[in-house]
Amino acid sequence: MKYQGSCHCGAVRFEAEGEIGTATACNCSMCQRKGILMWFVPRSALHLLTPEENASTYMFHKHIIKHRFCPTCGIHPYGEGVTPTGEPMAAINLRCIEGIDLQAIPVQHFDGRSK
Ligand SMILES: [Zn+2]
Repeated sequence: MKYQGSCHCGAVRFEAEGEIGTATACNCSMCQRKGILMWFVPRSALHLLTPEENASTYMFHKHIIKHRFCPTCGIHPYGEGVTPTGEPMAAINLRCIEGIDLQAIPVQHFDGRSK
């Protein structure tokens, strides 16, 4: 299944391919403030439809996750990182994806605050 998503103003648009099984809510200092629901996919399953530099990057703590956000509208559509085994992955903000029923997706809670 292919999904389309974007920030609010449209400067950052993307497609993502895969099955949305669960959403992850994280309680770390960043995710809690953003209130995002994440969908983890291999980085190769995320296709940017707008130039990569349209999104700014914020990093904190261990600086291993790139929190990508639109400098115009402030929305955080996705993040980039690597799995423990070194595979590039993306955490897509499900709230930025069009045409899905968020209520129907089970939410797993991740204790990022303690990491
Ligand atoms: Zn924007």
